[in-house]
Amino acid sequence: MSQSELPEVPAGGLRKRTDGSRSGDQQRDLSLPAVPPPLPIAVYDNHTHLEIEDGIDTLDPIASLDRAELAGVRGVVQVGTDLATSKWSAQLAASDPRVLAAVALHPNEAPKLFAQGKLSAHLSEIARLASEPRVRAVGETGLDFFRTGEDGRDAQIEAFETHIEIAKANGIALQIHDRDAHDEVVATLTRVGAPARTVFHCFSGDARLARICNEHGWYMSFSGTSTFKNAPALREALQVARPELVLVETDAPFLTPEPLRGRPNAPYLMPHTVRRMSETLDESLEDVCARLVANTERVYGSWSFDADATKETAA
Ligand SMILES: [Zn+2]
Repeated sequence: MSQSELPEVPAGGLRKRTDGSRSGDQQRDLSLPAVPPPLPIAVYDNHTHLEIEDGIDTLDPIASLDRAELAGVRGVVQVGTDLATSKWSAQLAASDPRVLAAVALHPNEAPKLFAQGKLSAHLSEIARLASEPRVRAVGETGLDFFRTGEDGRDAQIEAFETHIEIAKANGIALQIHDRDAHDEVVATLTRVGAPARTVFHCFSGDARLARICNEHGWYMSFSGTSTFKNAPALREALQVARPELVLVETDAPFLTPEPLRGRPNAPYLMPHTVRRMSETLDESLEDVCARLVANTERVYGSWSFDADATKETAA
């Protein structure tokens, strides 16, 4: 892939996570960590944000994908959070065989767009993008009661319901952002009817929610948070989860796994999470990787460019 074929990044260039204003940035080590030993079987990072830069080292999306391959991460789902990043995600997926895209308006964006009178126009654009062959998920969408207060909830729930319908209409997966809203997310999915392949991105529930997901056949994607010292409930959920419903992700540049917590994150650091997963499950790394690959391809289809024509049948 030559440089000239790369999609253009959104106006303003790559988005920056670190602007010096975040509390704690002064204490963080903002250099990129070393590449970990590669996984024995290359897996996929099913949720990442390559357009958001963190730290003091520049790692553009293509360099990030190259480095991921060195660590045994063969492909990613690049996730949009608004119209600009969703379009960019779809463009990147169309140009690089290591990338599939997810498109959506983030649950914290929806209420702002509603207040500006733009929500339905932007949702129509998301619906149009969702029909593109390498867009294989609608996400991240869902409910966030941590950052959005009571006044934004109606718009958030309305946007979530519309995203669910878009996923179903296109026969593609749904990636759910659920922050402090487990019961409402489950209630919405049950009320509206969940798509055949529904993923709780950055699973943040306990064994109870894992059992609910098991019952419905909903996928649970574990991120770096499942390595955190203060997260035994997540590891218990992982042990409860039906093995064929477990996925893995970075949510980079956020949620860097231990022992690198606080450093900038990128898909090449996912082996730390996968190795911890194999310890928690007391299973060989090979078996865990092989199953993650099979689960991920079942949800999103093949990454190969040749597979694009088969999107309809993947549902
Ligand atoms: Zn995310």
